[in-house]
Amino acid sequence: MSRQALDIVIVGGGIAGCSAAIALTAIGHKVRILEKQAAWRFQSSGIFVYSNGLRSMQQLGVMEDMIAAGFAVPDGRNSYFDHHGAPITDSFYPSADDGKIPAILGIKRAEIHRVLAARMQRSGVQIDLDSSVAALEQNEEGVHLQLTDGRQLSCDLLIGADGVRSVTRALMGLDLAPRYTGFGVWRSVHQRPSELTVKIMMMGPAKRFGIMPISADRLYTFGTVAEPEGRFFDPADWPRLMQERFAEFSGPAAPFLQELDAEAEVLYTAVEEVVLPLPWHRGRVLLIGDAAHASTPFMGQGGAMAIQDAVILARALTCHSDLEGALKVFGEARFGPCQFVQDVSRAVGEAGASEDIANLASRNAELASTAQEKVDGFYTRLAALNDEAEAILSQ
Ligand SMILES: Cc1cc2nc3c(=O)[nH]c(=O)nc-3n(C[C@H](O)[C@H](O)[C@H](O)COP(=O)(O)OP(=O)(O)OC[C@H]3O[C@@H](n4cnc5c(N)ncnc54)[C@H](O)[C@@H]3O)c2cc1C
Repeated sequence: MSRQALDIVIVGGGIAGCSAAIALTAIGHKVRILEKQAAWRFQSSGIFVYSNGLRSMQQLGVMEDMIAAGFAVPDGRNSYFDHHGAPITDSFYPSADDGKIPAILGIKRAEIHRVLAARMQRSGVQIDLDSSVAALEQNEEGVHLQLTDGRQLSCDLLIGADGVRSVTRALMGLDLAPRYTGFGVWRSVHQRPSELTVKIMMMGPAKRFGIMPISADRLYTFGTVAEPEGRFFDPADWPRLMQERFAEFSGPAAPFLQELDAEAEVLYTAVEEVVLPLPWHRGRVLLIGDAAHASTPFMGQGGAMAIQDAVILARALTCHSDLEGALKVFGEARFGPCQFVQDVSRAVGEAGASEDIANLASRNAELASTAQEKVDGFYTRLAALNDEAEAILSQ
């Protein structure tokens, strides 16, 4: 069903905001992004994009450029080791479209944003840097915004894609603070030895350490560990602290942990979750991406969910001529898959943190016998939920 072109303002130029801008301009809407950063600069280590996220990138027309900028893991192979480097098992993630969509792509976050920005430029998306929304009012005709720099704007639809601590969410009157999950994630970027081409997961004592290729010559490592709430670490100390946190890891982790000197590219993030019941919209204001459903990173799916939000939102706006109906259907279609990812990811993180460190051998044995089944079960269920979402969209 065709509809009149809408004037759309998106708050936040992260993965969700940029993807939505691309999807919505592609169906004829006019889009402006307000991004609070003064420069187009994104804290950058790596990110995984699994085949479901790559399919959404394909729908946005950016998958090939992403693949060229990142590293597709051959056969989607994930090799598990214990924290001393003894192999436990391998599992294989599913590719899609008879292998045309790779199973896992590792890519630098800054590269994702470079590709999305190039695409937005071609699509005529206006990006206002150093800009945000300070106040909003809406009525049946539209949304009126007061920006932080004093400007006023009006639009037909306002999309809050401003992440875990969404200001849009607060301005909609939703009183929801993100939940600290108890985990910190430490990440570092290194030169990639050419022979290291698989995703590696090392299973430590209530800690995980992963290694993932992200380009022809780079890889990133990521370590998850319980950290107390509200703890501030001086960024100058991050390389040393990451080295200390994962000091018991040897084997494949050792050379990268040894490289962590004061010059190393290290990032620390305290992980928060956003669990927001439907509806994700109020009138003409909608939340997408982490602002609506931030997940812990254990399934590596938050970015994929954000991109899929964009694709499904464009579909909902195309299928439903009334805005309220489209936003309602969007939320109903996306809630199931996003909630599933959040629940599984949370459970994986909590199981890891609460494991009995005297029983690592039995944990490893159980992992060896169930790893592939868990991967298959997760992707089968996610596909079924996406099918249910399709049915909701076409109602
Ligand atoms: C440690 C860690 C590892 C992860 N690893 C993966 C992974 O491997 N694979 C994966 O798919 N996902 C991963 N995720 C999740 C993924 O990063 C997020 O789900 C994804 O970035 C969400 O995108 P977003 O655009 O919704 O939010 P964000 O990425 O948070 O972007 C929000 C944007 O809005 C801007 N903004 C914020 N407030 C305002 C404001 N008031 N006004 C204007 N602009 C504003 C910000 O500057 C930013 O540009 C990981 C998350 C974490 C924490």
